[in-house]
Amino acid sequence: MPRIAIVGAGPGGLVLARVLHMHGIEAVVYEREASPAARIQGGMLDLHPDSGQRALREAGLEAEFLAIARREGQDHRLLDHTGAVLLRQDTPDDAPLDRPEVDRADLRTILLGSLPPGAVAWGHGLQRAEPLPGGRHRLHFTGGRTAECDLLVGADGANSRVRPLVTDARPAPLGAHVVELGIPDLAHARPDLAARVGRGNYWAFGPGRSLSAQLNGDGRLRVYLTFQGAEDWPATCGIPFDDPVRARARLREQFADWAAEFTDLIDACDDTLAVRSLSALPVGLTWAHVPGVTLLGDAAHLMPPAGEGANAALLDGAELGLTLAADPYAPDAAAHRYERAMFPRAEAAARLSARIHDILMSPDAARQLVAVLQPAR
Ligand SMILES: Cc1cc2nc3c(=O)[nH]c(=O)nc-3n(C[C@H](O)[C@H](O)[C@H](O)COP(=O)(O)OP(=O)(O)OC[C@H]3O[C@@H](n4cnc5c(N)ncnc54)[C@H](O)[C@@H]3O)c2cc1C
Repeated sequence: MPRIAIVGAGPGGLVLARVLHMHGIEAVVYEREASPAARIQGGMLDLHPDSGQRALREAGLEAEFLAIARREGQDHRLLDHTGAVLLRQDTPDDAPLDRPEVDRADLRTILLGSLPPGAVAWGHGLQRAEPLPGGRHRLHFTGGRTAECDLLVGADGANSRVRPLVTDARPAPLGAHVVELGIPDLAHARPDLAARVGRGNYWAFGPGRSLSAQLNGDGRLRVYLTFQGAEDWPATCGIPFDDPVRARARLREQFADWAAEFTDLIDACDDTLAVRSLSALPVGLTWAHVPGVTLLGDAAHLMPPAGEGANAALLDGAELGLTLAADPYAPDAAAHRYERAMFPRAEAAARLSARIHDILMSPDAARQLVAVLQPAR
């Protein structure tokens, strides 16, 4: 049986490994993190019926998905920076699971639990992949370990080390930076804020900045502050991100002209703080097939975060797994077929994400979003 190596144990790589396992094809997932507990898998993902949910069905994990899906995560509260509520949508108990939220950690747990022991080689950070004759590759990992494979799948996210084997394209900065803060055990610690934020998506927009918040399954409220600025904004904005207490005070100043309900949220956050600059690959990126290697998920089509990326990664993983299962002794031809189907699908998702990102960055984001979210009357 050909040897398949998947680099990256994100949603895309794990669902691929699971679908292959269901069809009797073993693959090794090489993951740079030392163990499943090495990093807190932050945040929530909304999974769509025709992509993320479909992938989990193909992976035989529908019951597990239903057990972790939060219907109420589909609620929306949209405000402007004065605190005026522009839109409020509460999800009825019998509403369909159009876009339920799942905890990233829960999703990873069900995917890992669906794989045989040893399917993930933890602590294997890929440094480079060396092409060998016949489309094979030798993988070089940190610490000097190596492995060889007949098909290499780059599922290693935004800064993929596999991507340069197939394309020179690099993610370009989007001029937006997300600072993540959070309030642990919101319901008990601050029931007043819990009532304001609600059970699902809470968004507020003002000139050049936005604040959003989302309640996670573990009771933590994740608070995201988004700023617009040049690529070097984190270094030049004057906020000392390496000193969370002072950084939070400076962040609060940035929202001083917003209603108190927003600064109250910032004040209640603990000292966990992370800043992330957003970037994306070109919309519609394709490449001429390179024997023995392919990409999926963010490695193939990093998009602005607009609720599509994880869904696209999961569907890529399931589709590649099914294509390989249909022709297990010709993995390279299957990978090529998968790419031909993936390119237009990814382009459509990336185009939609870019449009939503433009709306989120526009001066009248709140009004435009209300128009998008409001059902047509
Ligand atoms: C703030 C934010 C919010 C988001 N919200 C949503 C949402 O609501 N819905 C949605 O659909 N998408 C969302 N996304 C996008 C989503 O997170 C990604 O599209 C998705 O995680 C991509 O999955 P992946 O499997 O391709 O890669 P990743 O999830 O990035 O996983 C890659 C894996 O590869 C490993 N890795 C990386 N390099 C190496 C290496 N050299 N060697 C070995 N292992 C390596 C990493 O440790 C990681 O485990 C959001 C993104 C952001 C930034």
